[in-house]
Amino acid sequence: MNKFEQLGLNPAILKAIEDMGFTEPSEVQEKAIPILLQEDTDMVALAQTGTGKTAAFGFPLIQKIDANRRHTQGLILSPTRELCLQITNELKNYSKHTKGLNTVAVYGGASITDQARQISRGAQVIVATPGRMQDMINRKLVDISKIEYCILDEADEMLNMGFFEDITAILSHTPIEKSTWLFSATMPREVSIIAKKFMHDPVEITVGNKNQGTSNVSHEYYLVNSRDRYAALKRLADANPDIFSVIFCRTKRDTQKVAEQLIEDGYSAAAIHGDLSQNQRDMVMKSFRNRQIQMLVATDVAARGIDVDDITHVINYQLPDEVETYTHRSGRTGRAGKSGVSIVIVSKSELRKIKSIERIIKQNFEQKDIPDGMEICRV
Ligand code: ADP
Ligand code: MG
Repeated sequence: MNKFEQLGLNPAILKAIEDMGFTEPSEVQEKAIPILLQEDTDMVALAQTGTGKTAAFGFPLIQKIDANRRHTQGLILSPTRELCLQITNELKNYSKHTKGLNTVAVYGGASITDQARQISRGAQVIVATPGRMQDMINRKLVDISKIEYCILDEADEMLNMGFFEDITAILSHTPIEKSTWLFSATMPREVSIIAKKFMHDPVEITVGNKNQGTSNVSHEYYLVNSRDRYAALKRLADANPDIFSVIFCRTKRDTQKVAEQLIEDGYSAAAIHGDLSQNQRDMVMKSFRNRQIQMLVATDVAARGIDVDDITHVINYQLPDEVETYTHRSGRTGRAGKSGVSIVIVSKSELRKIKSIERIIKQNFEQKDIPDGMEICRV
């Protein structure tokens, strides 16, 4: 009997797990799945990015849904449309051998009538961004009055993005008698507020230290004069010809500028930020996933929750304001047990920030020297 079987998952899901090639559950899965399967309980689960939280709620959700009944029984709220699509795809994989189970994604930037039509054909599970969900409820395009399971995924991100009110409004349309499962990488105050407000005596699960970065990620910083930031980035790219990286900038404008400059200088790069249309964003993500692009320059919002395997370097072209944002950025690499490097390009005045990040992630940065220009052959 393999470890997934011991968790109490049914044969249809076990078969899907085998198809996906998962050999054993991750820690958060091992802790959460048996509880969620056996009890109708609320849960707060804290685990770092990349630890397999989607399956930790996805497997039990699919097993508990009654696929013979067509009404919506499970609602997953997630911060961004990219993430929404990603979770929907994952759930479709998990339920591949579960007959009659339909999952529909509901997010902004795509036709609301199409989404409503899909739901009207029967969707036991809806995966939604809070904004679009709220819109659908207002227009009476969706009925969530018989929800039994409500999942708040990447709760810290959703609250960071200002979805508190949307979440509150959406939950007010769900029955009181339901199970609420909250998954998050960190536990800022807003998340505890949501937990207190909407959950009843939740079982709490923590994997690793709260707010800790992924431990198979090493952290490095490069000290530069502010005006040399871009040159430093190029040197890093040149020194790592196989780089597959997300580069974070603070603003849409900088994101666009850095990407354009990289392209002009002959690198394989693209920008992703909120000024692009949904279609453009999907295209960029697809090329990045397919490795047609080596360097994805992104804003924090556009990169949230994105799960692309084997990212070698996360580069903080500029540091974020919030330490928690750093945790999320660095969590893009070192996923599913692989190792990765999170790099910060800093000027002298920002060194203090490095110290405060070290305290939170409980890991030290290594100061590195920018690779020497001599070894650069690209012109
Ligand atoms: P999180 O939500 O915690 O950031 P995800 O659910 O996105 O993490 O999972 C991260 C990656 O790990 C995904 O590519 C997923 O397919 C993979 N993964 C999840 N669980 C397992 C497992 N038990 N064995 C192998 N890979 C897994
Ligand atoms: Mg996740």
